[in-house]
Amino acid sequence: MSAPGDTHIAVVGAGIVGISSALYLQKAGFRVTLLDRNEPGTGASFGNAGAIAPHAFVPVNSPSIPRRLLKLMFSGGSPLSINWAYAPRMMPWLISFLRHCSHDEVTRISHALHSLLSRNLEFALPLFRESGADSLIRGGGYLHLYENEADCRDLSTEIQMYRDLAGDMEEIDAAEVGRLEPNLAPVFVKGLYFKSALHYLSPVDVCATLARHFCAEGGTFLREDIASIDKNTAGKLVLKGVRAHVVDQAVLSAGAHSRRLFGTTIAPVPLETERGYHVVFGGHGGIISRTCSSATAGFAMTPMNEGLRCAGMVELAGLDKGPNPACHAYLERTARRFLPDLRESPSSTWMGFRPSMPDALPVIGRSPRTPEIILAFGHQHVGMSSGCVTGRIVAALAADETPPVDLTPFRPERF
Ligand SMILES: Cc1cc2nc3c(=O)[nH]c(=O)nc-3n(C[C@H](O)[C@H](O)[C@H](O)COP(=O)(O)OP(=O)(O)OC[C@H]3O[C@@H](n4cnc5c(N)ncnc54)[C@H](O)[C@@H]3O)c2cc1C
Repeated sequence: MSAPGDTHIAVVGAGIVGISSALYLQKAGFRVTLLDRNEPGTGASFGNAGAIAPHAFVPVNSPSIPRRLLKLMFSGGSPLSINWAYAPRMMPWLISFLRHCSHDEVTRISHALHSLLSRNLEFALPLFRESGADSLIRGGGYLHLYENEADCRDLSTEIQMYRDLAGDMEEIDAAEVGRLEPNLAPVFVKGLYFKSALHYLSPVDVCATLARHFCAEGGTFLREDIASIDKNTAGKLVLKGVRAHVVDQAVLSAGAHSRRLFGTTIAPVPLETERGYHVVFGGHGGIISRTCSSATAGFAMTPMNEGLRCAGMVELAGLDKGPNPACHAYLERTARRFLPDLRESPSSTWMGFRPSMPDALPVIGRSPRTPEIILAFGHQHVGMSSGCVTGRIVAALAADETPPVDLTPFRPERF
């Protein structure tokens, strides 16, 4: 095998997964070029709720979903929105998603995600410290809140999974919720308090800081929209954008857009997008002290530098359609119900694309068709909490070393 220094690796996509991969490949001694059609951290890694949540291992798939599906699909005040014109194209993904909602599947998926999420801080904190991005991270834990006993019963599988696997969790009552977050309306009967969670004060600034550090350490970042990845007769990979980039290995970490590069070198996998939304209430960054999420409203609120960011929703509508104003209105309305002091209109709004597999597990591994390509996408709702450990895994794969996490549940061949 050639020495890492003689191996040139291109990383496609500079979200949290691609940037972390580039940094860990660089640490391993590889020559690394990071490519993105936009500035670093401006995809899903821009607009998320910013929680670094080791406990977020319970997937959206839930045994209660088949029972609640009709209500979720057709009730106006629901965190799920479906574009019916797009629904037929999503049908295979949706059917597969529902197959992964059984109790056994949710247990299996939770354990797999836990294996990834529980190792993330070990690989994230050194990157944050070395780059200076640690000043953009805050502690304080995470509150997951339930509005009534019926919700607690409906979601008993998820609560039990948290009891089983989250070492840092305390179950608290309404009075304790009010003591921790006095500005919340008294609408919650129970909270799960995950004490070791952190949050980003600005996810995009963290990504930009990491990318600057990568360049300062000798890496190359190029703005390039990659249209194809092929192999030439000499066995090298050729990534074509405006220019052609000839490299020894490549990492595909283009988030939900990765599927546009499936083709002769990368077999298709069922990657879809769960579109997500946020609204920001500028000037309200101090209204809560930590990320607070509602178990049924489908979004989380995080105090950030720009103000209070309320981010979530799942919209099934593909990659091409513009934002749906009804989703922003839902977030604004529900945030005001939880925090009545939010009186002004949002100062900014956003929509973006979660990269989602139907079993809620990312794809991490070498492309079965072309082993020189490492696939690292599909981190759905938890990429900001698992992107850095994925970066470390990618570097281990590139160096043909044993990765720090068992990759069996994440292998691309599983579909
Ligand atoms: C509303 C919402 C809330 C969320 N909240 C949380 C949370 O609180 N905690 C958490 O852990 N996770 C959260 N997530 C999930 C998290 O944001 C994603 O899992 C994560 O950002 C995915 O990172 P990524 O690097 O895979 O993709 P992205 O950040 O989307 O990056 C992909 C990059 O690839 C580039 N790209 C795409 N195609 C090409 C191409 N052809 N050529 C070159 N470049 C290309 C894009 O420009 C982009 O920069 C949330 C997501 C949403 C939408």
